Amino acid sequence: MAPIATLSCKESFTISHYLNSPHLSNTANKKVYGECANPAVHSHQYTIEVITRGTVDTSIGTVMSLSDLKSLLRTTVANQLNRKNLDYDINFFRTVPSTIENLAIFIWQAMKQEMSEPELLYEVKLTDNEENCVIYNGSGGHVQRNGQMNLTSDTD
Ligand SMILES: [Zn+2]
Repeated sequence: MAPIATLSCKESFTISHYLNSPHLSNTANKKVYGECANPAVHSHQYTIEVITRGTVDTSIGTVMSLSDLKSLLRTTVANQLNRKNLDYDINFFRTVPSTIENLAIFIWQAMKQEMSEPELLYEVKLTDNEENCVIYNGSGGHVQRNGQMNLTSDTD
């Protein structure tokens, strides 16, 4: 049996947003989201790590092309999200709060959609300023998207 390995790469990007759930009172929003509930928009510096897992191809010695993975992560995620206001620029967040959890789910779904071998996607790890981190691996149900899977907004 061929050996199995994980292969990952990282990109950083900056977004702006604020968090407000229509299902909560103003007091509850502040309690749940803390400083992120302030309607004055603020920014976060995120690092996304995309982890693939698969058999190491014996002829080329890789799980997949690292340059393809880097390029896909840059074009599909980092370049699309960098310096965007998640709540206004990205369709997905018009119906779900732009929390770090939902952003990780969004990135997972975007990578799955764009990878030529999506079964290799193992995990995404989204870190906020090296303090908070979410790991998502596709478990559970899908978050309902508003409209198409496209990362860019209709207003671009
Ligand atoms: Zn925030």
